[in-house]
Amino acid sequence: MAAATLPSASAKVAVRNLARVASSRQPLLLLHASYRRGRGLHPLPLAASAASQGAHLRRALSVSASATAGGNNDAAPRAAEREYDYDLFTIGAGSGGMRASRVASALYGARAAVCEMPFATVASDALGGVGGTVDGKLYTAENILVAVGGRPSKPNIPGIEHVIDSDAALDLPSRPEKIAIVGGGYIALEFAGVFNGLKSDVHVFIRQKKVLRGFDEEVRDFVAEQMSLRGVKFHIEQSPEAVTKSDDGLLSLKTNKETVSGFSHVMFATGRKPNTKNLGLENVGVKMDEHGAIVVDEYSRTSVDSIWAVGDVTNRLNLTPVALMEAGAIARTIFGNEPTRADYSAVPSAVFSQPPIGHVGLTEDEATETYGDIDIYISNFKPLSLTLSGLPDFNSLWMYINIHGIVIAVKAGLTKQNFDSTIGVHPTTAEEFVTMRNPTRKVRRDTTAEAKTKDEAASQK
Ligand SMILES: Cc1cc2nc3c(=O)[nH]c(=O)nc-3n(C[C@H](O)[C@H](O)[C@H](O)COP(=O)(O)OP(=O)(O)OC[C@H]3O[C@@H](n4cnc5c(N)ncnc54)[C@H](O)[C@@H]3O)c2cc1C
Repeated sequence: MAAATLPSASAKVAVRNLARVASSRQPLLLLHASYRRGRGLHPLPLAASAASQGAHLRRALSVSASATAGGNNDAAPRAAEREYDYDLFTIGAGSGGMRASRVASALYGARAAVCEMPFATVASDALGGVGGTVDGKLYTAENILVAVGGRPSKPNIPGIEHVIDSDAALDLPSRPEKIAIVGGGYIALEFAGVFNGLKSDVHVFIRQKKVLRGFDEEVRDFVAEQMSLRGVKFHIEQSPEAVTKSDDGLLSLKTNKETVSGFSHVMFATGRKPNTKNLGLENVGVKMDEHGAIVVDEYSRTSVDSIWAVGDVTNRLNLTPVALMEAGAIARTIFGNEPTRADYSAVPSAVFSQPPIGHVGLTEDEATETYGDIDIYISNFKPLSLTLSGLPDFNSLWMYINIHGIVIAVKAGLTKQNFDSTIGVHPTTAEEFVTMRNPTRKVRRDTTAEAKTKDEAASQK
């Protein structure tokens, strides 16, 4: 790939960045650069060896420490006389990094560059991105954005080397015969559903009594029940203690309660960690919390004024649309002269389990905590399309669950009365939202009142 012509860098440097690398045995980094509005994105070849990349990043960011003190922290228009190669240099071409660079360049005419890891399907310290080449130069930028995301993390138990994570699970050459999945979050359940669908024998081990911590109790029960009906085996209140491999290659998982054997695969979906190792951020004064997440203010600015961070690396709300929102906000803050906070209210989430579930707004516990007395409306029904199929599926519908239309309604602050006065489309699943007349139960802070209203609700059924 031919090198794109870089704008000539002026002398003073706020942030020296990334690309000085001695060895180029293996092409590693891809740098997309876009110069000025209308010129499009230019791939910029760089080169580094896998071994040198960590050091290279460390060195580059170290340089930025001494130079950023005088960085431009205001959302003021950039000087006509440019002193940097780039207005924004982003580390990480994932959801957040690409969005910030695109918005900065397309909306505000900023000169934006993105640096990415070499391609690999399973992420490591030196591999895992979209791939590319490195040219060994040193670049300067007025602002650096760290958007390196996170990586699966596994507990350090005996035999952990036999265990796969979600990256490796997506890279399996064939279907597992029998798989243990450790974890009760959405990644664990989604993979359990995929492998169950492929007719693997799927065992899910969870530390708690229920899956999907943070979701409503009824949703948690409902998903576990439905997945069990489809053949997934849940082992509850179990923590993994060791994995052993027998001579025939099969794996056993030992927990605090039992040992289950005969697994062709053991997968851990036990959380993710911010990808901040080996970046040298601590050397330049970027604060991180005890989990390695970059600490940022409400504008996603780190403790170093000209270094910003968005997405999973900040461990706020680890979802793609949230990373996109944070990225758009920083582009506006830096280049739009419009300091913009990301808005975390009514962020929806979905789990692509069988059946899929969605959630927006407060859980029942949070609603009770916030408002005291609340009425709960639940609709259990079987969609017409499934009445003849014999599948166990049915949809359970809470006022605070489901689909984009509901998310918009919640965000806009619509009330139950607005739902009640809406004419539904028949025959659709969605009409259930506007036909829930009687509360299934009423939760009251005063427990005597709650007991009474539960009886009332039951008698209204
Ligand atoms: C299995 C799984 C399923 C998910 N499903 C959903 C879902 O259904 N819906 C949803 O909203 N979210 C989902 N998420 C979460 C979502 O993927 C993340 O929240 C989102 O990608 C975060 O964006 P990001 O920009 O912070 O990081 P990422 O998109 O992960 O991008 C980070 C990038 O930085 C690169 N990088 C890392 N280190 C370096 C370095 N040193 N130098 C250069 N580049 C580097 C990486 O290669 C990567 O390309 C899922 C996550 C997983 C793991």
